[in-house]
Amino acid sequence: MQNYPIFVDLKNQPCLVVGGGEVAARKIRLQLSAGAKMTVISPELSKTVRNEMLDKIKHLPREFQDSDIKGYRLITAATDDPDVNRRVSELAQSLNIPVNVVDQPELCSFITPSIVDRGVVTIAISTGGGAPVMARDLRGKVEALIPSNYSHMAQAMKDNREKAKTVLPDEDQRRRFWDKVLEGEIAELYLTGRLEQGAQALAAAFESTEYTKEDGIGEVWLVGAGPGDPDLLTFRALRLMQQCDVVLHDALVSDEILNLCRRDADRIYVGKRRANHAVPQEGINQLLVKLAKQGKRVVRLKGGDPFIFGRGGEEIEELFEEKIPFQVVPGITSASGCATYAGIPLTHRDHAQSVTFVAGHLKDGYADLDWPHLANPSQTLVIYMGLIGLPVICEKLIEHGLSEDMPIAIVEKGTRPDQRVLIGTLATMPELIKTEKVQAPTLIIVGSVVSLQGKLSWM
Ligand code: SAH
Repeated sequence: MQNYPIFVDLKNQPCLVVGGGEVAARKIRLQLSAGAKMTVISPELSKTVRNEMLDKIKHLPREFQDSDIKGYRLITAATDDPDVNRRVSELAQSLNIPVNVVDQPELCSFITPSIVDRGVVTIAISTGGGAPVMARDLRGKVEALIPSNYSHMAQAMKDNREKAKTVLPDEDQRRRFWDKVLEGEIAELYLTGRLEQGAQALAAAFESTEYTKEDGIGEVWLVGAGPGDPDLLTFRALRLMQQCDVVLHDALVSDEILNLCRRDADRIYVGKRRANHAVPQEGINQLLVKLAKQGKRVVRLKGGDPFIFGRGGEEIEELFEEKIPFQVVPGITSASGCATYAGIPLTHRDHAQSVTFVAGHLKDGYADLDWPHLANPSQTLVIYMGLIGLPVICEKLIEHGLSEDMPIAIVEKGTRPDQRVLIGTLATMPELIKTEKVQAPTLIIVGSVVSLQGKLSWM
């Protein structure tokens, strides 16, 4: 994060703007609207300032002097003289007074974001001062997304905050209450401008068990997070991630994806990477049950798809037995994600009529698989968890009839920014993974479709 966002209360706070042109006018207007007591130092004032703001500001009609700097909460320099702007910045920073110099990020100790203003709701967008045009573009999009009546809903929530604390002393219960309000007809009333009805419905909600009763039991959402690129999440995955109280996640789930979960959701790492299981599967199953019984909404976030080598089945079996409500959200499995990002179609009319997914981990150094079925030149074979067993896998496939020249691809860290694709043959790959120092997670793809990669790699 380049800048740390904060919102400053300027009500009745002395603020200084040096400069009185059109740019200064915009800054003055905004600070006035936040309730600041404005002083403006400038020999001249633009028409806008004179007509619109003169009676609301203290105007000192002269040049800036060093001694002007003291006593302000915020200072803005918006003159067209770079030396004056620099001087204002230096003096303010020497006194630790936050200062903004318009269009000169290197002289600023704070920058002003693009704003979407909905009364008590303020949405601020910043690109760290680096791309204001993009900030404005984003702002346009957010403006379109948030109906202007949001301010009414937010105001009502603000006005009822203390009441909610009294009626619903438990924080989780309170959050659920407000979630229900926001998801349902009460929000609809406010958002369509029917404020009186909204207020009545809200008052009634505080009396209604439908809104206030503490749900005895929580819910578990088994969510597929895809292979790594956050853009590959589903809408439903994102929605549930943003509602949960707790998230249990694996080693395969990237930080970028984890950061899309609700900010104050608790995170529990139950990582699994080969033998090094942070929490054994039975422990995970029990933890899901325990958290749900405490009334929590739990996201169990898994790499790829929960039902493909994800042990999702075992987890929900336990939930089913314990009568805990659950949902499963499919994710893009790594076979799909990696093959697509590597430019390898898993089926192709001229190359492969079927595709088989297998788990390639070894048991006691031995891959116990149906080799005669797998060694089929007209199908694509996708092997999960196969890196360690790769030499054995190549050997067995050759032994059961595949050509030594059959192409094979390794996709390392598929769909992530540091994705690597290695192409070889069943004969050469065992050596190649050593020289290239291939790291997990990796997906193996065997079949003649791999020969298309050179042509179709689009990333
Ligand atoms: N449920 C997951 C698979 C879990 S098993 C899914 O549907 O994808 C773990 C294996 O998935 C890893 O050993 C690796 O073979 C594969 N895998 C997961 N993410 C990957 C990625 N980003 N790149 C390459 N392989 C990946």
